[in-house]
Amino acid sequence: MGDFKKRTTVALILIAILTQFIAFSSVAIPLGKIEQVLQGKVICIDPGHGGTAETDSYRVGPSGEREEWINLRVAVRLGEMLQLAGAEVILTRTSDTFIPLSDRSKIALENKADLFVSIHHNATADPKVNFPIVYFHGSAEENRASVDFGEMVARKLVKHLFKGKGPYSLVSDYTIFSNSGASVLRGTYGIPGIIGEATFFTSPKEEKKLRIPDYNNKEASAYYEAIVTFFEASEAIKISDKEDPSKVDPFEVFQEADRMRPEAKMWKANFLEGKKLLKKGGEAREAEAFDLLTLSARSFPDSYVAKECHELRVEILRRQGKADAVEMEEKRIRYFYP
Ligand SMILES: [Zn+2]
Repeated sequence: MGDFKKRTTVALILIAILTQFIAFSSVAIPLGKIEQVLQGKVICIDPGHGGTAETDSYRVGPSGEREEWINLRVAVRLGEMLQLAGAEVILTRTSDTFIPLSDRSKIALENKADLFVSIHHNATADPKVNFPIVYFHGSAEENRASVDFGEMVARKLVKHLFKGKGPYSLVSDYTIFSNSGASVLRGTYGIPGIIGEATFFTSPKEEKKLRIPDYNNKEASAYYEAIVTFFEASEAIKISDKEDPSKVDPFEVFQEADRMRPEAKMWKANFLEGKKLLKKGGEAREAEAFDLLTLSARSFPDSYVAKECHELRVEILRRQGKADAVEMEEKRIRYFYP
């Protein structure tokens, strides 16, 4: 390459970087606008994981971007936005360091947080999968404030990161941890709170976007809007004392590593095939449909078809005259899949 060409290339790269910077700073973020509803509110933001580069080879995208780095960038940006708007913000970590789960909920409790937001990104075996999942703790019938907040977060994530189109999941943490839910949500129960998994870093396209600060800002904007909307609407929403959701029989599901297995990739195909077989009818086909729907719900219990998998399972159980199982599975749907 000649000297002139080299210099031109350097200049072009500089312009490209500069353009991106300008684009980055022109994103419509409600900077500096004081929000009345945020005054006096303590918001605890929890950037998931941190400091695990040496020990964790699972939470990393196909080209090396680590979930904990993305979580931190989004959380810090969200914190700045909320603080500028007048809220008091507590971050459970501000650098790439390891913080035990129990410390995270303790930080929220000790600071008397009004809201708890744990920021994560998701992983699965199928690189094509990408949609938001939001978790609340326990039963939807008791933890209504968190369900309402979760719904707002999920919708804003779809709006800002998926052009307003496409599915999302809003599910209980018992769908993935069937014995006691997620530690940070269990530990902060009573404070409206969610874990947000905005997108999947196992999608190569998505991972590329997640490296860009402007894109992280968009995600932070989604949370910001959801938080303002929540406090505008939340006066009447309550959280009841927690009963024991283990009254619902645990539905054993694939845990993290298993969800990277090849059969986990079949979650959607199994759902569609099960639904088709059920439509055709007949005892044998119904039994086969039941197995396929069960497998789909086990391998991806928080997918956007998992609720329908459970509803169709109930339909089959009803046809088979299994009244007790019907009652239990209906309860599972009401509690965990609002
Ligand atoms: Zn995570």
